[in-house]
Amino acid sequence: MKYYILFGPPGAGKGTHAAALVEKYNYKHISTGALLRAEIAAGTELGKQAQELIAGGNLVPDEVVEGMIESTFRNNRDVPGFLLDGFPRTIAQAEALDKMLAKTGEEVTGTISIMIPDELVFERIKRRAAIEGRADDASDEIIANRVKTYHAQTEPLIEYYKAAGKYHEVMGDGPTIEINRQRVLDLMETLQ
Ligand code: AMP
Repeated sequence: MKYYILFGPPGAGKGTHAAALVEKYNYKHISTGALLRAEIAAGTELGKQAQELIAGGNLVPDEVVEGMIESTFRNNRDVPGFLLDGFPRTIAQAEALDKMLAKTGEEVTGTISIMIPDELVFERIKRRAAIEGRADDASDEIIANRVKTYHAQTEPLIEYYKAAGKYHEVMGDGPTIEINRQRVLDLMETLQ
């Protein structure tokens, strides 16, 4: 089983390009953000706990997302691999993922990092807000907090995966979605 991590700041295009990878390779896409939004929409206890943190642009507790990831792995054994989108987001989550996979003698296959500058994060998220209506895309203040959270808690993962020899980066700031998508597809092809 292959385990790829789609890494990058909010608005880098992880979800957008995941769709192309799913189409080409039949991997199972797991977006922890989408799973959490589904819990909120369904009004579950977990959704209620996560709602305020997400709306403020803060991370939910590691154990919550780790549990979601582990049960998705368990319930999808008939796929060639997984695309993790938005997980791990902290060093603790990355360590938990390594431990989870080690139980079955497996490991992360590679990290595909899509990089964009902070200015573009704001521009992209504002555009997305008009289309998707996500609460955490709604204001400059919340977006700024998500960017801050990314730099403080998620960016250290770059060194973590570099040290493991599993870090691969493309720039996601090309002029069109198609150009950026091709960069991601070309990189994934080298990781097969
Ligand atoms: P995303 O759709 O990936 O931008 O995630 C939306 C929000 O869900 C994030 O801003 C966090 O509040 C929460 N979230 C998603 N994934 C994680 C994670 N791996 N760890 C903690 N919080 C997460």
